[in-house]
Amino acid sequence: MSVGAGRLTNMRTLLDLVLPLECAGCGVPGENWCSWCSRALYVPPVTVRPRVDPGVPCWALGTYSGPRRNGVIAMKERGRRSVARPLGRALAEAIGHLRDAGEIDPPELASLVLVCAPTRARAARARGGDPVLRCARIAAEELAPETVLVPELLRMSGGARDSVGLSAGQRQHNVAGRIEAVGVCRPRADTGRPRTSTHTVLLLDDVVTTGATLAESARVLVEFGIPLAGALVVASA
Ligand SMILES: [Zn+2]
Repeated sequence: MSVGAGRLTNMRTLLDLVLPLECAGCGVPGENWCSWCSRALYVPPVTVRPRVDPGVPCWALGTYSGPRRNGVIAMKERGRRSVARPLGRALAEAIGHLRDAGEIDPPELASLVLVCAPTRARAARARGGDPVLRCARIAAEELAPETVLVPELLRMSGGARDSVGLSAGQRQHNVAGRIEAVGVCRPRADTGRPRTSTHTVLLLDDVVTTGATLAESARVLVEFGIPLAGALVVASA
């Protein structure tokens, strides 16, 4: 083997290490996200009822299993940003299904606003940005030419712990009062009514477990007079 060929092999090995080309949903080699896993994602969303009621309808692409679970873990824990593409596309497809089913308004009646449930800032930084926000932006792109807003409205303030291993009650306590709205004016106290709006606001998250984060996010949005149509998540655990 020539020195040049050896270098090329080393480079390939390095690239394989950096970019292991295997499906993040099932591990099949050769592609980032295979067609089988795509079919598992692009399905009509199902209604879920988390233990902590967010007070609005909640839909998931399916259970936290198979390609949905593997995809979320690859994106959140292993930093595979490219997985946001199929997940974002699946969320856009799900929004289409919800519109077809009459669950949310069509674009000609109300413009769509996607609000991401907040993640702990430090966790998001460690993962190289908020993966849910990335999915939401891709979902918005997929819905073009419709204009979909993805404002960063909600933030998790300091003090919230990683929720892994916490019970429903502990999770609720963990996020209670720790989610805040940024860049939104408080509604005038004298009306107390939701603002009239021609927007469909959907709350997005990757996984709903107990519903504590969705419920607290919904509470904050409603407090600010933002009419929330529902919550859509990739998977329900
Ligand atoms: Zn696959």
